[in-house]
Amino acid sequence: MTENAFYHDYDVPQDLQFKTADILRLGGLECTAQLSPKYFSDVFTQPNKITSVTVSLSFSVASKEILVKGKIAGKRLVQCARCLKMTEQDFAEEFLETYSNKSEIIDIMLLVRQTLALTEDIRFLCKPDCKGLCPQCGQDLNTAECGCKPVSLSPFAELKGKFK
Ligand SMILES: [Zn+2]
Ligand SMILES: [Zn+2]
Repeated sequence: MTENAFYHDYDVPQDLQFKTADILRLGGLECTAQLSPKYFSDVFTQPNKITSVTVSLSFSVASKEILVKGKIAGKRLVQCARCLKMTEQDFAEEFLETYSNKSEIIDIMLLVRQTLALTEDIRFLCKPDCKGLCPQCGQDLNTAECGCKPVSLSPFAELKGKFK
């Protein structure tokens, strides 16, 4: 885009509530901000959580609307659905949205939160063949065998044993 000095001087609001009037006055805006993870503490289901977020935004002014292109990058901690171990992952997402020139505030925070919420992987596995935890003693079966006997889920199996 252009080399407008305003682009670099603009103080990005931490809550990402941009004033439409500012964007129009500047004729567009490009900015990058690192955001506090506290804004995203409730986006994932615990114990999964977002630990770092950087947002890059590009606002283009058209005749009746403002086009916003965004990139979100950061780190998140996700729990294995089988063994419950936490793994740190990098993530990167992009979004594209238009806003009316007449709206007072452009709420990028809402957009970022929605984009991040869609990326949560509640069936994440630390490895495809994760053995998980023993349902009886809780031992992580990836690290050691515990020696518990597997529980039979069929009531008939137990009856069979009785009448032998
Ligand atoms: Zn696992
Ligand atoms: Zn066990």
